[in-house]
Amino acid sequence: MRFIDIYGQNEIKERLIHSVQTGRMPHALLFHGPQGTGKLALAIAYAQYISCENRGKNDSCGQCPSCIQFQKLIHPDLHFTFPVIATQHRVSIGAIKEWREFVLKSPYISYDLWSSCLSSEKTNTPPKILVSEATEIISELNKTAYESDFRTQIVCFPEKMNDECANKLLKIIEEPYPNTHFLFVSENSDQILGTILSRLQSIYVPALPPDVVTEILKKQYPTATEKVITDTVHIANGNIIKAFDVIENGEETQMFLSNFIYIMRTCYTKNILGMKKWSEEVAKWSRKQQITFLSYAQRMIRENFIFNIRQKELNYMTSDESGFSEKFSPFINERNICQFLSELELAERHIERNGQAKIILFDLALKITMLLKM
Ligand SMILES: [Zn+2]
Repeated sequence: MRFIDIYGQNEIKERLIHSVQTGRMPHALLFHGPQGTGKLALAIAYAQYISCENRGKNDSCGQCPSCIQFQKLIHPDLHFTFPVIATQHRVSIGAIKEWREFVLKSPYISYDLWSSCLSSEKTNTPPKILVSEATEIISELNKTAYESDFRTQIVCFPEKMNDECANKLLKIIEEPYPNTHFLFVSENSDQILGTILSRLQSIYVPALPPDVVTEILKKQYPTATEKVITDTVHIANGNIIKAFDVIENGEETQMFLSNFIYIMRTCYTKNILGMKKWSEEVAKWSRKQQITFLSYAQRMIRENFIFNIRQKELNYMTSDESGFSEKFSPFINERNICQFLSELELAERHIERNGQAKIILFDLALKITMLLKM
């Protein structure tokens, strides 16, 4: 990964390059900020730049043996730590093959994307960084560097580290081994243990501006229409992961919107037969689609409430969605918003736990009928 491959974030790139050129690299850095902004990409590009054998003024060369190994994420002095599911792997190295494939596919990653990559079905054991990981890091760093003068330890999602692991790492973060640096990459830095956080120099990686997101989308999806691009940039709000998701699932989103409109109208007119038919129809979808629809419905309820209280500049909807909201939003207000969200969330949870979709959805429709009158 070279700096040139990363969209936007020029100020941060300059800061990182400057620290290498002046030989003032902090030994423990934290890249933090919202999702989908290129934090991991920046960390990898920075490590590659440091190790490059033919370093240029503004970037690594991309061609020397070190760069070639970095580009495949197989450089022996580049170590990754990331959350794993305890029942599958004891330490990250056990899932390194999956991790490399995952990051090489797109360096714009999130904890949720990585979790679903590790397990196709939602499991009850979310991926974590366990204490065995600290032992592994310490033993690995005790060996001498293999090929370069520098060793890089990238720790992804340190907010998922348990306290025992964090405490064990404190010492080496504070008094690191020579020519070894830690790069932490976090999407939720306020959940990192305070004692670790205070030992890191932090770099805030902000959301990408609309013109950069537009540029990325135009390049990645050359056949997308202007309207699709504009809508996507608006909803994504600077998060490139969200932008890819919106554009790739455009058809599904359209189907969700028409189902959302249909069920709200059916409930409003107290059309019991319509509700029954709808719940039978949606029950035929895959469980994953039903769950995604219910979380889509929660987003729509929230957006309509914001629309209703006239904070339109805070709305992130497509033009089709906001078209419906012009008329629908007055029905979502201070009296019913909380219950609306909790009923949708409850239905989502019941479906997740393999409940009977037909019954759960019909029951939900009846509750919506009452909520719309509040
Ligand atoms: Zn190079």
